[in-house]
Amino acid sequence: MVEALENLKDIYSKEEYSGNMFFTLKRPIISYEVFPPKNDSNGEKLNELINELRILKKYEPSLVSVTYGAGGSNRDQSVDIIDRIKNELKLNPMPHFTCVSTRKSEIKDYLFNIEKMGIKNILALRGDIPEGAFCHDFLYASELVEFIKKEHDLSVAVAGYPETHIESESLESDIKWLKHKVDKGADVIYTQLFFDNNKYFGFTEVCADEGIEVPIIPGILPVTGYNQLLKMTSLCKVTIPKILMEKLEKHSDDKDYTKKLGIDFASYQCRQLIDAGVKGLHFYTLNKSEAVSEILENIL
Ligand code: FAD
Repeated sequence: MVEALENLKDIYSKEEYSGNMFFTLKRPIISYEVFPPKNDSNGEKLNELINELRILKKYEPSLVSVTYGAGGSNRDQSVDIIDRIKNELKLNPMPHFTCVSTRKSEIKDYLFNIEKMGIKNILALRGDIPEGAFCHDFLYASELVEFIKKEHDLSVAVAGYPETHIESESLESDIKWLKHKVDKGADVIYTQLFFDNNKYFGFTEVCADEGIEVPIIPGILPVTGYNQLLKMTSLCKVTIPKILMEKLEKHSDDKDYTKKLGIDFASYQCRQLIDAGVKGLHFYTLNKSEAVSEILENIL
């Protein structure tokens, strides 16, 4: 449980262990991503989300990151969630923030407000460029990182893409720009979801060759439904290993099977990543506790 809010550097410089009298395991730093619920005028879904996080609190997360609609579409709701995570759940919230289509003055106001709330960390993003984007005070996330680091006392995380960003022509070029974000002051990288650990291992190797030394925290999505997976993977470049895809296709109508398969696969993925020495695991919770809880029961 978080007593005082910590910054990213302190969180990932800790060495945590768990085990018993006969063995000791290095415990990864656990963090979760949640998103502001859609169509929630009466706040019922937000209350449900807070209850799900109350369950997940058991696993002592160091951070809970909260997504942000590009262009600020859900800004107020995002701030409400951050406030409840911090003050009601006594956890450490990390707002995401996208700079696309946002004026510098609005960015300043937002950063000022979250600092006033006592927030220590932010995930700085460009965001997807919407059609008819009206203003580009910042063209890339690196410019936002530089601005935050100059003007604010916040630790900054950025996004990384083990299978390259959708607009990028090559892994090398994408990693060159990732290094640029780190050079501008990013403290940690959180990755896009992936299912093939070899993609993550290859990515971290190239990052190391390029001189990126900050922690690269893998993003883990427990698959809980076949259609949900197809929808999510259509939005970004993600390879689904043949063995997983074949089983998912064969049992696409069996929800219980798919959920169990997703939990078992993510547990296997996490165990392999821990054995390889990752500093942390960042779970895309989709605002639900069940699958992530089971994975954490399996691996911790
Ligand atoms: P950038 O780092 O700016 O990179 C964008 C592209 O431009 C890349 O292809 C990069 O290689 C290239 N590039 C970077 N700098 C330069 C340069 N100087 N010159 C030329 N090319 C350059 N989206 C949301 O809307 N809300 C969220 O809350 C959110 N959370 C996310 C969390 C994580 C962990 C991840 C992985 C993604 C998230 N996204 C979110 C998606 C993200 O906004 C999109 O992927 C977006 O298209 C890119 O944002 P970025 O910060 O990675 O951009």
